[in-house]
Amino acid sequence: MKKSIFDTKQQQQDVSSKIVAGLERISQAFKVLLWEKAKSLGLSPIQIQILIFVAYHKTGYNNVSFLAKEFNVTKPTISDAIKVLERKGLITKDHSSEDSRSYSIFLSDKGKQMVAQTEDFANPLASQLESVSNGEKETLFKTLGNLIYQLNQQGILTVQRTCFACKFYTKDGTGHYCRLLERKLRHSDIRLDCDEFQEKA
Ligand code: SF4
Repeated sequence: MKKSIFDTKQQQQDVSSKIVAGLERISQAFKVLLWEKAKSLGLSPIQIQILIFVAYHKTGYNNVSFLAKEFNVTKPTISDAIKVLERKGLITKDHSSEDSRSYSIFLSDKGKQMVAQTEDFANPLASQLESVSNGEKETLFKTLGNLIYQLNQQGILTVQRTCFACKFYTKDGTGHYCRLLERKLRHSDIRLDCDEFQEKA
């Protein structure tokens, strides 16, 4: 029987198991930082995530269905979070789309101020990378990018706007090329969340 990656004896013999255990720790750190920020501002973690997402993504993404997929939660969870954000005056809704049941959300001025107060929650993670060399960061990013793409292909991560899944991406010898930007991409240029992304057929 295959040994569990959570078995500490297994971890000691297998670097892959240690990497998975390490990724779990990092995801815990992300959750803890988000919870601390949420508590200090009287919001829930998903409410903060929605506000920050809306601040940096195009209108077409800022609706209940898309946000539910983006954050891997149910539509009622997103609807409830949006209701609270609206009640607090942090967002407004636009019902002008053809489908009368759907709406897009926008940040109010108060919402933009809240984003400015919340979006630094992951800085303690980012600051840990400052002492890592560029070469090591590029290697880490390459591995993470490939891992994310593979998890997306397996249906585990639902929404990805990465070059590898984009219709404009093509291989260029051993490198990468974007047909939309009409330029070669170094590995560090590969995007994980691209505004121009269009899913390949
Ligand atoms: S459009 Fe964006 S996601 Fe698509 S290949 Fe170009 S840079 Fe990558």
